[in-house]
Amino acid sequence: MTGKKEIVFLSGNYINRDEARISPDDRGFIFADGVYEVVRSYRGKLFEPGHHIERLGRSLAALDIRGFDPALIENISEKLIESNDLSSCDSTVYIEVTRGTAPRSHTVPSPRVSPTVYAFASRLDRPVNKQKEGIAIIFVPDDRWGRCDIKSISLLPNILARQKAEDEGADEAVFVLGSDITEGSSSSFAAVFSGALATHPESPRILGGITRKIVIDLCERAGIPVDQRPIKKEELIYADEMMILSTTREVMPVTICDGKKVTSGKPGKITRRLQQLYTRYIEK
Ligand code: PMP
Repeated sequence: MTGKKEIVFLSGNYINRDEARISPDDRGFIFADGVYEVVRSYRGKLFEPGHHIERLGRSLAALDIRGFDPALIENISEKLIESNDLSSCDSTVYIEVTRGTAPRSHTVPSPRVSPTVYAFASRLDRPVNKQKEGIAIIFVPDDRWGRCDIKSISLLPNILARQKAEDEGADEAVFVLGSDITEGSSSSFAAVFSGALATHPESPRILGGITRKIVIDLCERAGIPVDQRPIKKEELIYADEMMILSTTREVMPVTICDGKKVTSGKPGKITRRLQQLYTRYIEK
């Protein structure tokens, strides 16, 4: 942005970022009692807002956070993109909803208080170079809680895992629960075995990724078999390809896994095909 002040959304108002204030008694700050979404926009047009609205609705309902209509994220995102001059580029909108501000108590405030809603938009180009080359991942034990399907702002295990990856020169940490691969710290995980895409089924152990859902549909339409099952870490020596999937990284090839090359060390055929199909899908 060129000298213009960034506009953010805070609980009903569009204001300059440097004027945004929340209370230290906000339950998001005290307890990480809140949920979030990250919505992508390509050239100013929101990508799959319906899926994000639905998932935010599910997260809010699971925690019984009331007083915010998730359908509003479409309008809030569009306004933020426009007022921050992001309509002609690619961007993301981060939206967080916490249970609101109340004196600290483990029980839910009674009477209820209004949720705090904070959102901002930032420019984010498609990571095309990494998509061509592929990325490195490491595996870490999945020590998260049992409701990873809720997109909670409580992300400590995820950030510790991601920092470990960063410290080891890798781009993503992928969680392993017992011997099952669940998902990445901020992405879904998939591998290709004999021409079929395998990925963990939807369950409380993973976030229902929107990119994962789209990729499964694209596979089905392209005649690529999909096997929704937990992948065992030991099986990965037989994997022909690996990839991570997310709103910001899209279809991202994994070419180095725990320091070793994945097959040739180049993005695989099915990954490439899915990248093409995904690009076509977002451009449609
Ligand atoms: N799993 C986790 C833990 C994530 O944080 C994300 C990113 N939101 C994903 C999977 C991928 O989800 P999506 O494709 O909806 O971005």
